Amino acid sequence: MLTAKMIKDCAIAAGADLCGIASVERFQDAPKEMHPLTLFPEAKSVIVFANRILKGCYKGIQEGTDWSTYWIYGYGTGLYTSLGRAGEAINSLLEEHGYEGVHSPGSHTLLDEAPPAREPLAKGKLPPCVTLHMRVAAALAGLGEPGWSKVFLTPEFGPRQRFEIILTDAELEQDPLFDGQLCDHCQACVRACPGHALGGERESVTCEGREFAWGRVNYGKCKVTHWGLNPKASPFVSKDLPGMNMDVDKVSYDWYAAYRLGFALAPRIKYLDLISTGSAEHGQGGRPGSVCGAVGCIQACNAHLEAKKVLRGGVKG
Ligand code: SF4
Ligand code: SF4
Repeated sequence: MLTAKMIKDCAIAAGADLCGIASVERFQDAPKEMHPLTLFPEAKSVIVFANRILKGCYKGIQEGTDWSTYWIYGYGTGLYTSLGRAGEAINSLLEEHGYEGVHSPGSHTLLDEAPPAREPLAKGKLPPCVTLHMRVAAALAGLGEPGWSKVFLTPEFGPRQRFEIILTDAELEQDPLFDGQLCDHCQACVRACPGHALGGERESVTCEGREFAWGRVNYGKCKVTHWGLNPKASPFVSKDLPGMNMDVDKVSYDWYAAYRLGFALAPRIKYLDLISTGSAEHGQGGRPGSVCGAVGCIQACNAHLEAKKVLRGGVKG
């Protein structure tokens, strides 16, 4: 018989650092466009697994010498290669036991996307943007809690991990919700965010009597800063975009507008062009990358939680 322990052991053996499970009933209050049953009507369990972002990924940005390590290994190919391996292993195990596994891309920003992507493709269907809320799913799978920054915090790695989700029709024992408290509302993330994007209106979800709350994020301000268009967070703007005097407190982009602006301007930033895959002449360069290095929402928070000695590292499955 397939058990939750077998799934978790499989995830950890394949390279994941964390794995938790929620029953689909815990998602009962989720809106349809974010509900597991919209993607997989027979789903009974939601498996959430994660890999840590290695601390050394931030060093080049901290030193002002290299932005590509975080981009490539912090959340790009390096981290998602091992997450992909873990996902394949879990799905294979499910199939071997007669069940199906459906990978959900999960997202916190796709729902802000522009109208063309939100048109239903078939009558009676939802628009093709059904994504689970990654951080809520991680909370419901007992892995930790969202911080005030809305970045998810785990007792192992604080804000340093990325998640993937597999929905399955296998009925698996679920994990208890995290009953500790990692975020102490110190506001270090808010103060250090060069995009002034954090700490907005309080938002929350409640499950089994446990409330998970965070401050609303201004995704437009975050995205232009993350993409390196905010002079407060990018050493490249004054050099390569001399006319770009963006005052982030005065801009009102939504996430998608900021995303497109990043792609429009990145080819003008020589460093981004250089470290993108290929080169601009070959049609693959000039892609925006993580220039702010999550200096507030991840780095400042991680430093705060490490100073408090509340992170235990290791793996959890
Ligand atoms: S820095 Fe971390 S612990 Fe402090 S308020 Fe932000 S999310 Fe919470
Ligand atoms: S990614 Fe950068 S701009 Fe966005 S919230 Fe984090 S520190 Fe702020």
